Amino acid sequence: MKELENLKEAVLKEYPRMQRESGFRFNCHEGISCFNKCCADVNIFLTPYDVIRLKNRLKISSQEFLDKYTLLPIDESQNHPVVMLKMMADEDKSCPFVRAGGCSVYGDRPWSCRMFPLGVASPKESNGCDGGEFYFMIEEPVCQGYLQEKHQTVGEWVEEQGVGQYSEMGELFKEVSLHDFFKERKQLTPAKLEMFYTVCYNIDKFREFIFGSSFLKRFDVEEETVNDIRTDDEELLKFGFNWLKYCLFGDKTMRVRAGNDAAPRVDTAANVG
Ligand code: SF4
Ligand code: SF4
Repeated sequence: MKELENLKEAVLKEYPRMQRESGFRFNCHEGISCFNKCCADVNIFLTPYDVIRLKNRLKISSQEFLDKYTLLPIDESQNHPVVMLKMMADEDKSCPFVRAGGCSVYGDRPWSCRMFPLGVASPKESNGCDGGEFYFMIEEPVCQGYLQEKHQTVGEWVEEQGVGQYSEMGELFKEVSLHDFFKERKQLTPAKLEMFYTVCYNIDKFREFIFGSSFLKRFDVEEETVNDIRTDDEELLKFGFNWLKYCLFGDKTMRVRAGNDAAPRVDTAANVG
């Protein structure tokens, strides 16, 4: 994780900053000599939306997905839990989803796989660096894509790779993960970290929490929303982000039902049991 922090600093301070209209040369296709070489021994951080797309693609529960396909790196510099895609134990440390013909989960591949060779940096995540969010080119020596004769703008690439819905969910996630609470260097309690992990990565467990506890008696949630979150993971995740803003940071994003003045600024899931 130290290496990653160093890379983040280098990107913010040294890498050329690109905007949506910036052009770059790149192409990737089956038949290129490096085909699939980028799908091994790579750090892929999964967003909450990535986890939903992948576990639904694989038709397994979020718990099973987390157990089988992810790592939970721990580092003191992290404000909150993050999950990484676990590479296989073979010699190449291959991605579990790569096959001879390419990515077996292509339509639901993670955000960072879609974006490659572009990354997005947010100076807000690091002190002492100015400016807004920007794109940058990732340096990957094995990749021949940079030598191909295809030119496009960042905006065209993002469009072509179907990043739109991922970005929308990513923006909502940032309202939690980059909340002012963390800027003040405050720390979440272990119970709150667990709630963060459950909402962001174990969406099925979060659903059990909502519908298997007194939650809906304590909080005033519109009937339409209740119906949506019962079956729709994406809607549940959006609802979960609002819940996290309320229970982790004390934002006024939930309405407590009348007569429930003891409703918890939840510190643990059990408080709403
Ligand atoms: S998810 Fe697909 S695109 Fe991403 S590393 Fe794995 S095989 Fe490659
Ligand atoms: S290394 Fe680059 S060009 Fe080769 S398959 Fe991966 S992304 Fe495409």
